[in-house]
Amino acid sequence: MTAPVDHTHDSALRSWVPGADAPGGEFPIQNLPFGVFRRRGTGGAPRVGVAIGDRVCDVAAAAERGLIAGDARAAAEACASDSLNALMGMGPEAARALRHALVELLREGGSGERHADRLLAPMADVELFVPSRVGGYTDFYASIYHATNVGSMFRPDNPLLPNYKYVPIGYHGRASSIVASGTEVRRPWGQTRNSPDAPPQFGPSRRLDYELEVGLYVGAGNALGEPVPVSSAESHLFGLGLVNDWSARDVQTWEYQPLGPFLAKNFATTVSPWVVTMDALAPFRAPAFARPTGDPAPLAYLAQPAEAAGVDLTLEVWLSTAAMRANGTAPMLVSRGSFTHMYWSVAQLVAHHTSNGCNLQPGDLLASGTVSGPDKESRGCLLERTWKGTEPLTLPGGETRAFLEDGDEVVLRGYCERAGRARIGFGECRGRIAPAAATFPG
Ligand code: MN
Repeated sequence: MTAPVDHTHDSALRSWVPGADAPGGEFPIQNLPFGVFRRRGTGGAPRVGVAIGDRVCDVAAAAERGLIAGDARAAAEACASDSLNALMGMGPEAARALRHALVELLREGGSGERHADRLLAPMADVELFVPSRVGGYTDFYASIYHATNVGSMFRPDNPLLPNYKYVPIGYHGRASSIVASGTEVRRPWGQTRNSPDAPPQFGPSRRLDYELEVGLYVGAGNALGEPVPVSSAESHLFGLGLVNDWSARDVQTWEYQPLGPFLAKNFATTVSPWVVTMDALAPFRAPAFARPTGDPAPLAYLAQPAEAAGVDLTLEVWLSTAAMRANGTAPMLVSRGSFTHMYWSVAQLVAHHTSNGCNLQPGDLLASGTVSGPDKESRGCLLERTWKGTEPLTLPGGETRAFLEDGDEVVLRGYCERAGRARIGFGECRGRIAPAAATFPG
């Protein structure tokens, strides 16, 4: 069960908002992603807004002016908040009613234009925050290409563990260290063991990496003890964003057995500010991953019709170093992949997560795991892209990178494009590496 395509996706729709109709833009009226913003320098409370063109629309302000009525009104009023949680918890019908009302407000000739000064803030003049108050953060491992690549580096004889094609593998991450796009990420200290013949050491990580991931934001939750069937799983998703699951590979290699990632991952996770709703994604659905002949079918509780289980979302990683920025060199495209390459669908991730009765709550974040595809250029982390550092990247200007150095900045981007449809973008998920603390407190 996916969100329907309706008149709000019509590529002929135009908006009175500056920049909304710019060719190749990210935020046309057909997108309307939600985020949390504050006008810079005002010191006021953050509010929920939608991105359109190069502006942010203050949704609650529209409700306060009586511009949003009917079913959408309560949803708009829930946007007078410093997080998306209240809106997310109202479920898909409320979010859809609000989307429809916003389209009426913001379309060419719409009633919002007379109130433009009160409703809109230039994107350049706002701060953007983590979109939801994340109570629980789970990270999956849903790309079979990523799992196979990483497995083959660590277990050449047995790259893919026998559970992979049956179980959507995941681990519980840390919600407290989720940070907004643009937040500096300090290189962590950690315990590593660089050689089996040497004792472990404690110091700044030398193998810092990013992971290109898609974040699934939970909308309506499920009660403890009540699994969500795969057929209605998407009605518990509010939308998707971008996630950078920063990873200290040297720490990870030493600590992960037998319980999985811990301090190698929880020092920071960067999220993009805008959540693209499942409604906005409706025209960009794609078939489920085609399992190769011989792969087992999903068990019954994970079985779903294949035709629209996937999302045709293109994802990119851009890298710039301090030297590149000083020289005025543009960031380099490090990889480009597709969310259609994931072995498990978003509905399967939700269904599996709740299959034991685990309760998901509005605003929770489920990340997909590193999005990697079959080609070298579509590998979504440096561990794979440089093959454990053995094939360093050469950057414009001649620098090389096996893993991230201090001052490196990683920008993730995502967009959906399809003939006859307005292109929609996810904005960016940006983070720059700050040097490790020079000394450890003690
Ligand atoms: Mn990850």
